[in-house]
Amino acid sequence: MPRSEPAVCACPFCVAGIASAAFADDERFLALYDISPVLPGHSLIVPRRHVKSLLGLSDEELAAMMVFARRTTRLLTRVFSADGFDWAIQDGAAAGQTVPHLHLHIIPRHDGDLPDPGDWYPALIASEAATIDSRLRPRLTTAEHAQITEKLRAFAAADSDQA
Ligand SMILES: [Zn+2]
Repeated sequence: MPRSEPAVCACPFCVAGIASAAFADDERFLALYDISPVLPGHSLIVPRRHVKSLLGLSDEELAAMMVFARRTTRLLTRVFSADGFDWAIQDGAAAGQTVPHLHLHIIPRHDGDLPDPGDWYPALIASEAATIDSRLRPRLTTAEHAQITEKLRAFAAADSDQA
């Protein structure tokens, strides 16, 4: 017998206090440092409201998400001195989505950071799959995650001062 939906979403991107883990945010979106980065700088753009799919966003929300994601990508590119970046959305279980709350991966890239530039995607899949078994997944400690978030937050605040 399936239990009824809780009044408050129990997904990891809807837990109380998630916004305080963000290094940048606006009224609709959060930028979170990935707890298990496949490469340095790996971050997530997450809508504050629980929405499973990109297809569930209004046109206005989609536009706002792209602008916020680009701003965050600029920040990450600068802080990590990246030469490029990957964006990825896994939308639906068939596409490898493991957390049923829309999230865009941003992965800063450097020349020669992986044997083949395309190797980031298998690494992402392995990282997501290993969520189920944390022994397989090199995770940041809470302290490490807080430290990088604090650093990025300072850069993000400096950016908004200039705006
Ligand atoms: Zn959620």
